[in-house]
Amino acid sequence: MSYDDQNVFAKILRGELPHNKVYETEHSLAFHDINPQASVHVLVIPKGSYKSWDDFSKIACDEEKTDYISAIGETARLLGVDKTGYWLLANHGNDSHQEVPHLHTHILGGQALGPMLEGGDLPPGAHYNRY
Ligand code: AMP
Repeated sequence: MSYDDQNVFAKILRGELPHNKVYETEHSLAFHDINPQASVHVLVIPKGSYKSWDDFSKIACDEEKTDYISAIGETARLLGVDKTGYWLLANHGNDSHQEVPHLHTHILGGQALGPMLEGGDLPPGAHYNRY
């Protein structure tokens, strides 16, 4: 499936929708999530047209990748959650329930977040791998 340039984050990048900016670099933009799931909930997106972590990690150039990783860390520091702890979450595809088909990394924090997964819906026989 090709990149859908009508997704909401593409519209934000084109200035067609408003956003509450936290941080911006040449290749990345961070803004507050419109429907926060924690006291701190910010999204970091690359400015390039990437659907998810999958195509970004495969075809983005090194400069974009470095910029994006640095922007996520810098955004967390600007928010102050580097001192208290935070989650990073980047959904890819149907199983993850990715809603917006433009790569975004959620930064969640500002409170105790609890266990990452409830684990209630594992199929029969499923188990966590031990390494
Ligand atoms: P995901 O399920 O990983 O695709 O998450 C998409 C996220 O985008 C959700 O947390 C939404 O609340 C958020 N979102 C959707 N539209 C906007 C918007 N216009 N501005 C900021 N965040 C948005």
